[in-house]
Amino acid sequence: MDLRHAGISLEDIRSGKKTAIAGALNLLENRKPDESGLAAELIEALTRIARPRRHVIGITGPPGAGKSTLISRLIREYRSMGHGVGIMAVDPSSRRSGGALLGDRARIEHDPGDAGIFIRSMAAGRHLGGLAWRTRHCLTLLEAAYDRILLETTGVGQSETEIEQVADSVVYVVQPGSGDSLQFMKAGIMEIPHILVVNKADLKNPALKAFHELQGVAGLSGPREDGWTPALIRVSALEGWGQDQLVSALEDHYRFLSAGDLEKRRRRHRIQWAYLLFLERFGSQGAERLGGEERIFKRLDGLDVSNPFSALHELAQDMART
Ligand code: GDP
Repeated sequence: MDLRHAGISLEDIRSGKKTAIAGALNLLENRKPDESGLAAELIEALTRIARPRRHVIGITGPPGAGKSTLISRLIREYRSMGHGVGIMAVDPSSRRSGGALLGDRARIEHDPGDAGIFIRSMAAGRHLGGLAWRTRHCLTLLEAAYDRILLETTGVGQSETEIEQVADSVVYVVQPGSGDSLQFMKAGIMEIPHILVVNKADLKNPALKAFHELQGVAGLSGPREDGWTPALIRVSALEGWGQDQLVSALEDHYRFLSAGDLEKRRRRHRIQWAYLLFLERFGSQGAERLGGEERIFKRLDGLDVSNPFSALHELAQDMART
C-alpha cells in the first residue's frame, strides 16, 4: 500500500489543502506506528518536505490563563504577516470531562474560511504520554504545511517539560494573582520557557505585581547557559495589545536558535521521538533487553534520526539480534 493508494497527496498537504491535511491526520492518529507501515511511510515523506522556515511554538500555562484568547490574537498577527498557521490544542482529557473547570474556556477564534489556518484539538489521555508520538506525528504534518505551528497545552505539572521536548520555542502564560511566579521559583521550571507572558495586563495591579515578581526571579533576569535571555512581556489578549511584542520576541528567539542550536535541538527531539516509538512497539521489557533507556539513547545518538522510523528500524534489528 502506498500513500497515493491511500488517497494521500503530499502536494495537497504542502499547499495547505485542508481536506488533505485532515485525511492525513486521520491516518496518523489512528494507526499504531510500526516501522514499515503506512504511517511510517507518510512520516518519512512529511519529514522530507518539512518547511525550511518553520517555527514550532509551544504555549503552556494554567487553565484559564488566557491561552486560547492569546492564540486567537497570534493567529491574526501571523496571518497579517502572511504566514500560514497550524494549531494543535492538546487538552488533558480529565479536564474535558470535568466540564466545570473549563466552564468559561474561550474558543480559539478564527476565520473558518481562511485557507491559511488549520486547528485541531486532541485529548491528551490520562497520563504523561500526553505529548507522545501522536502529537509528534501531527506536528510533523503541520510542519509540512505551515510556517508557524502553535501547540497549546495546559500547564498541569509535566506539560512544561513535555512541550520542551517538541517545540522550538516555549511560551509560558502566567495567570496574574495566582502566585505563579512563586511557584516558578519553587518548581524550578523557570529554566524551560523562553518567553513569559503575563496575560490579563488590563487587570492592572495583579498583573503588575506578577510582572515585578517575575522580574526578580533568578534565571529570568540574565542570559542562560545557552546565551538566551528570557523575555518577559505584558499582554492583554482580551483587549488585544502586547501580542505584537510577543510575536517579535518569538521571531527573536527563532533567529537566535537558527544562528545556533536549532538543528541540535530538533535532533534531540527526534531522538526522544524515536525512543517513544521504540517503547510503543517493544514496551519497557524491550528497553530492558537492549540494556535500558540510557543505552538506547546512546545508540540513537549514533544513528541518523532525521526520520525516526528508520532509527526504529535499526533498533528493531538490534532486538532481533538479542
Ligand atoms: P485558557 O484556559 O488558558 O485557554 O484561557 P482562555 O483563553 O479560555 O481564557 C479564560 C478566561 O479568561 C476567559 O473568560 C477569557 O475571556 C479571559 N481572558 C483571556 N485573556 C484575558 C485578558 O487579557 N484579560 C482579561 N481580563 N481576561 C482575559
